[in-house]
Amino acid sequence: MAVNRNNLEKIVKQCAEKEALLVAVTKFQSLEDMQVLYDLGIRDFGENKVQEIIRKAPLLPQDIRWHMIGHLQSNKVSALLPYVYRIHGVDSISLLKEIEKQAIKQNKIVNALLQFHIADEETKFGFDSEKAIEIYSEIASLSLQNTKIDGVMGMATFTNDKNQIAQEFDVLKATFKQISASYSNFKEISMGMSGDYELALEKSSTMLRVGSLLFE
Ligand SMILES: *Cc1c(COP(=O)(O)O)cnc(C)c1O
Repeated sequence: MAVNRNNLEKIVKQCAEKEALLVAVTKFQSLEDMQVLYDLGIRDFGENKVQEIIRKAPLLPQDIRWHMIGHLQSNKVSALLPYVYRIHGVDSISLLKEIEKQAIKQNKIVNALLQFHIADEETKFGFDSEKAIEIYSEIASLSLQNTKIDGVMGMATFTNDKNQIAQEFDVLKATFKQISASYSNFKEISMGMSGDYELALEKSSTMLRVGSLLFE
C-alpha cells in the first residue's frame, strides 16, 4: 500500500472549503504510510481497535491526535485513555460512566461523541435517535468533569443508494440540532467515510472518517 496523494489533496481541499476535519482512518495501514500522511500535514488519525492505537502511538510523532472510531468495550477504556484524543463511538451510558471514571483517575481530559444508530443494519451500535433528548438530559445530569461530549457520530448503511444515505445523514443532523438547541457545547457531527464523504460534507458533517480512499 501507498498513500494516494491525489485523493488526499482533493479531500483535504474539500474539507478546508467546508471547515471540516479529516480524520485519516489508518486501520491495517503501516507505520511508514502513516508517517507519509503525517509529513503531508495530517495530525488526526483514526483506528477502530484499542490495541492498534496502543501499539502505534509510541512509534509515531507525539503530536498526533488519536481518534478511537470503533466500538469500545468498557474493560479497554483504561488502557486506551493515555493515548486517545477523541472517542467517537460512545453508545451507552455505562460506557460513558466508565470513560469518566477512568479519565478522572488518570487526570485526563477526553473528547467524546455520542454514536447514534442511523443505519438499516442491525449490527451497528448506537443510541436511538428518537430518544436523543432523553439521553442527553440523562448525560447532562451526570455533570461530567473530564469527558467533553461535544457532538454526534453515525454510520450510514453500506449501500449504493445515495437517497438512503442522504436520509440517514439527515436523521443524524436532525438529532444533532435537537440536542444543540439546548446544549450550546454541541458542535461536531462525525459522519462520512470513503463511499459517502461528499454527501456527508453537503449534509454539514464537521468530521470525516476516511480510510480506503487515502491509500492505493
Ligand atoms: C473503517 C472505518 C471508517 C473508514 O472507512 P473507509 O470506507 O475505509 O473510508 C470510518 N469509520 C469507521 C467507524 C470505520 O470503522
